[in-house]
Amino acid sequence: MISRRQLMGATAMVAAGQITARAQPKPTPVRPLVVSTWRHGLAANEAAWKILSKGGRALDAVEAGVRESESDPKVGSVGLGGLPDASGQVTLDACIMDENGDCGSVAYLKGIENPISVARLVMENTPHVMMVGEGAKQFALANGFKEKALLTPESIKQWEKWKVEHPDAVKHREVNIENHDTIGMVSIDTKGNLSGACTTSGLAWKLPGRVGDSPIIGAGLYVDNEVGAASATGVGEAVIRAVGSFLVVELMRQGNSPQDACRLATERVIAKNPDWKEFQVGFIAIDKLGRSGGYCIQPGFDYAVYDKQMGNRMVTAPSRIPAK
Ligand code: ASP
Repeated sequence: MISRRQLMGATAMVAAGQITARAQPKPTPVRPLVVSTWRHGLAANEAAWKILSKGGRALDAVEAGVRESESDPKVGSVGLGGLPDASGQVTLDACIMDENGDCGSVAYLKGIENPISVARLVMENTPHVMMVGEGAKQFALANGFKEKALLTPESIKQWEKWKVEHPDAVKHREVNIENHDTIGMVSIDTKGNLSGACTTSGLAWKLPGRVGDSPIIGAGLYVDNEVGAASATGVGEAVIRAVGSFLVVELMRQGNSPQDACRLATERVIAKNPDWKEFQVGFIAIDKLGRSGGYCIQPGFDYAVYDKQMGNRMVTAPSRIPAK
């Protein structure tokens, strides 16, 4: 049995612990901050920073940021120059979410260079969250977006090469570790409000009609202004099954750092997919304090982080399969 002396000692230690905990200064939140997937995130972050550094809203920053990648014909995985599906058509998926939990999304959108801005319009000008295909395109055109050919000489060349090399490719899932370049971007502004955006042309050579995780709220992107924001890249089917970005945010809500939350969500994807060694999934996340993190299955995923203290830089995400 515990003696009175032991009990008093323990009580005193708890009290001392509480005093120490109370005496610790609260960490100063890092604001503003923007984090985005892959190397093209650097240019996207620059565009976002122009807005954030003037005290602008995170929502405006993430839209402007990912538009940069969408409009860059050299980025072969999003918007203009995005690699097509198996039939040679470029179909785009995108979503956006703000500090109020409002969100908008488009999927299987053809011929519009900046799907993220259409997603924002769905959020702000309609009672809906998600619009797809021809209806989404007509909605965009009716609201002043211009139709544009999104194939480039380079993407046509790559598609033609792929067709010759993979005559039966539609029968199996293309496993591609390097070529996941969806841009997911999450940000916190000077007021402490969070937003995120995610946009992609999806997996190269996908079956026509396929939609991945990127336009699905909770899968490719999730924002909770009380907690944090997360976005995903990689094989969308595996991310959807785990409701990946929502899971990352919920893991942060339970007290995990953004880094740990990304790792734990990746572990969940691994646990649910026996073939996990053959594909890539990566997550990025930020929390209310302006901490950031990322994690992935395969080595090779890096993400761009921009804050006032350290500027705009690439960070290599730790991976479950170690780098050689
Ligand atoms: N997540 C995207 C998709 O499955 C692909 C990518 O990240 O490149 O459509």
